[in-house]
Amino acid sequence: MIDEKTSVSEIMRRAYKNGILIPAFNVAHLPMIKPIVDTLKEMRTFALVEVARPDVERFGAKSFQSVADEYGSLADRRFSRLHLDHIPVIDEDGKKVDWIALIKMGLALGYDSVMIDGSRLPLEENVAITREVVELSHGYGRPVEAELGAVLGHEAGPLPPYEELFRSGRGFTDPEDAERFVRETGVDWLSVAIGNIHGAISGVAKDKKKISARLNIDHLKRINRLTKIPLVLHGGSGIPKGYVMEAVKNGITKMNIGTSIRQAYERSLLEKPDDVEAAQEEVAVEVKRLIEEYEVEGSWERL
Ligand SMILES: [Zn+2]
Repeated sequence: MIDEKTSVSEIMRRAYKNGILIPAFNVAHLPMIKPIVDTLKEMRTFALVEVARPDVERFGAKSFQSVADEYGSLADRRFSRLHLDHIPVIDEDGKKVDWIALIKMGLALGYDSVMIDGSRLPLEENVAITREVVELSHGYGRPVEAELGAVLGHEAGPLPPYEELFRSGRGFTDPEDAERFVRETGVDWLSVAIGNIHGAISGVAKDKKKISARLNIDHLKRINRLTKIPLVLHGGSGIPKGYVMEAVKNGITKMNIGTSIRQAYERSLLEKPDDVEAAQEEVAVEVKRLIEEYEVEGSWERL
């Protein structure tokens, strides 16, 4: 069983070995932290609480510091840890990001794990930058997640037709590249593209229902066979349960969930603008529903 001292690397390794999913809930608005951590404790479920740049810059997570402070004051660390999601080298708008400063800030603020996203770079550069972050972060004893392949959806403008994307496998993580990437970088967890897409974060699409993405499980099996480390699925909202359960049997250990809990919060505030508590309650209801859907109630006891 997990206690406050169990490292998140160890927790993810156990989950990977035993085929137990660790959901990772994105905090798009600061008041979402409380219903997430309270529900995890109530349901005896282990999960990650995470925040990414769009949560801070486009939504209401305020700052990485505020999230760390709020999490630190509310969370029971037996049931969750704090993860710094998506520090891109080049962001969704094609702009260069001062990634090393952001990673260093996350480590200094006490984030338990960090993600460097060099997926928009050529393989060689993604390897070099990820290796640098791994060296830095491992110096603090914190694991690193990286991404290989193109998990689309955060970019402004229309997504290519989904069926075509899925059928062609365009942007999917190449299994041989993944093997080499893991070997050369020493990365702890790898985010893969196997049909999953991110929820929209801009324009009118961010408020619309997300399309129901599918997963190529055979492709995932090939990646898992060659990498043998915990794999991560971004864009978890809206993927039918059957695909998720199969994916978890084949290496997916962490699944990011952003859109569905963000929309639950925002919808409630739209109806009752002054009632933050009602919006928090909607987040709790959605987190509970997801825990039940993915059968992770009581996972804390099994990890
Ligand atoms: Zn992502």
